[in-house]
Amino acid sequence: MISILNADLHCHSVVSDGTLTPEALAERAKTNGVELWALTDHDEIGGQQRAAAAAAAQGMHYLTGVEISVTFIGQTVHIVGLGFDADNAALKAGLAQTRGGRGQRAHDMAAGLAKVGINDAYEGALKFAGNHDLISRTHFARFLVESGVCKETNEVFRKYLTEGKPGYVEHRWATLKDAVTWITEAGGMAVIAHPARYKFSANQEFALFTEFKGHGGQGVEVVTGSHTPAEYLSYADTAREYGLAASRGSDFHSPAESHTELGTLPYLPGQLTPVWELLADKIQHAPV
Ligand code: AMP
Ligand code: MN
Ligand code: MN
Ligand code: MN
Repeated sequence: MISILNADLHCHSVVSDGTLTPEALAERAKTNGVELWALTDHDEIGGQQRAAAAAAAQGMHYLTGVEISVTFIGQTVHIVGLGFDADNAALKAGLAQTRGGRGQRAHDMAAGLAKVGINDAYEGALKFAGNHDLISRTHFARFLVESGVCKETNEVFRKYLTEGKPGYVEHRWATLKDAVTWITEAGGMAVIAHPARYKFSANQEFALFTEFKGHGGQGVEVVTGSHTPAEYLSYADTAREYGLAASRGSDFHSPAESHTELGTLPYLPGQLTPVWELLADKIQHAPV
């Protein structure tokens, strides 16, 4: 298989913090020319059956997907899983455990926001959550935009939901080892999501990549909606340096909020092993 494939292996539905259903995403992906698709909701695989069925209905190839929240040396890192068995019991239990802390965290976030005069944010955010087990900062951001506190979700994150801001709550997610193990033992491939987004020093980034590989991780996102074109190239180098396969995904969440549309990013740079090459036997092929 080749690098020149319109694969979009990272996006979110109403099952986590996206605003579209799996079916609407599949239709949108198809319209944009996506050939191989994966829905990667945060910490949740409840949308996988619908996504796979919708992909088949649209004539797209499909890989199962998830994006797991991890805490690594004090920072949140996202690990994408692709091509796993969605019925795997250990993976499902691990994800349930990872989701488990979100309810209390949301109450704590609302308490922080109440201190600066923003009331009833828990109830407000919950209204935006399609899946009440998966209340996220994005749902708070939508509530604060709806209530006129901010003009757009980016501004909410900057002013209220990031470290040091009133609605930010320290949280401990899954360990890197657990997330990679859950994915790989379910037959899938673990992929470091949007590496340029993290605020690691060079040594810390080295630790992330080295430990990730040590636990059995095999891929890294190179072309993602979170990277600049210069970062596509620098993480293509990183992928080659660490012997990791390369992934491509928009990280699309919502027509109103996302800057990157499904299936519209550049192709992977050359001289890389695309993740779909190693996952060939996990692809659910479109009916002919
Ligand atoms: P959580 O898992 O609850 O911490 O929420 C993380 C989600 O918030 C990410 O997956 C993004 O969808 C969203 N997010 C994080 N930072 C920003 C930002 N600066 N602007 C808009 N959305 C963001
Ligand atoms: Mn998100
Ligand atoms: Mn992410
Ligand atoms: Mn994402």
